[in-house]
Parts: sequence; C-alpha cells; structure tokens
Amino acid sequence: MAEHTKAIFPGSFDPLTNGHLDIIKRALRIFDGLTIAILDNSQKNSLFTVEERIPLIKTELKEFGDRIQVKAFSGLLVEFAKQENVKVVIRGLRAISDYDYEAQMALMNKNLYSEIETLFFIAREEYSYVSSSIVKQAAVLGGDMAKFLPLSVLAAMKKKLS
Ligand code: ADP
Repeated sequence: MAEHTKAIFPGSFDPLTNGHLDIIKRALRIFDGLTIAILDNSQKNSLFTVEERIPLIKTELKEFGDRIQVKAFSGLLVEFAKQENVKVVIRGLRAISDYDYEAQMALMNKNLYSEIETLFFIAREEYSYVSSSIVKQAAVLGGDMAKFLPLSVLAAMKKKLS
C-alpha cells in the first residue's frame, strides 16, 4: 500500500493560472488530498497579497471540497511539509529552462529532509508557455487573458488593474 495519499503543491500563485489548475487536477487523480502552499515572500513584487490569493484559489477549487487545502507558508518548504505530515511535493515543468532550478531545489529539499520526494508534471502543451508573470505583463498592457486565467481570477485581475 502506498503511504503517500497527500501531497503539497507549493508556489507563488500570483495569480493562479489555468496552467496551475491543470497540474492541480492531474495531481488530484493520483492523490487523495492536496495542499496548495502559497509562499509568503515579501521580497517578491506581487500583484495580489497572499490574503487575496487564498480565497481566489479556494473559490476555483471548491468542487473538490476538503480534498484541497489552501495555506500560506514562509521559510523552508520541508519544514512546512513536516508540519503538514506530507512527504510528496508536486511541481510543474514547462520547458527545459525550468529544469535546472527545479532539480536544484528538489535535491536541496531531499538533502534537508531525506523522506521528501518531488514529483514533476510536464505542463500541458497549451499552457507550456503560460506563467503568472507573463500573464501579468500582458494584462498590464491590455491583453485579453481569458484563455489563461480562471474566470474569478480574470475578474480580480481586471479590477486590480483598473
Ligand atoms: P514559483 O515562483 O514557486 O515557481 P509559481 O506560482 O510560478 O511559483 O509556480 C508554481 C508551480 O506551478 C511551479 O512548479 C511551476 O513550474 C508550475 N507552473 C506554473 N505555471 C505552469 C503552467 N503553465 N503549466 C504547468 N505548471 C506550471
């Protein structure tokens, strides 16, 4: 019997995109529960505060009920994972350019906590070039981001930029 019935999906989610949503839904086909862990990084220039991001993500995922938890964390991911009693970290890989940083982070996390495993999902083709930052850049310039963002996020973004 596999012991890993829960996983953590950490990130900035500033904001949540359809690319993130796709990874979340794919992870939920494998794991019973998933904690979306929003890194509270005050150094990063963010569009939405963590307090704004949490309800946006919860709203988008409410169909999954208590299989989804949305929490903020700061500090080491492995410490948060221990606290949550979770040993699997989910990350998405879009391009080869993601690989270096992701491999470094996965190895560092493994070094800090040998029981942790990082699982990578290859981004779906249509979202392979979608990142929160490119969506923000294009939205600021007036681009229509409806294809890349869930409806509630799209509305919140329009409001924020108006
Ligand atoms: P971080 O700043 O930690 O990379 P992000 O919110 O940008 O946080 O991304 C969180 C995770 O989601 C990362 O593993 C990233 O690779 C993945 N991800 C982001 N956008 C996509 C996408 N379009 N398709 C698949 N995975 C994605």
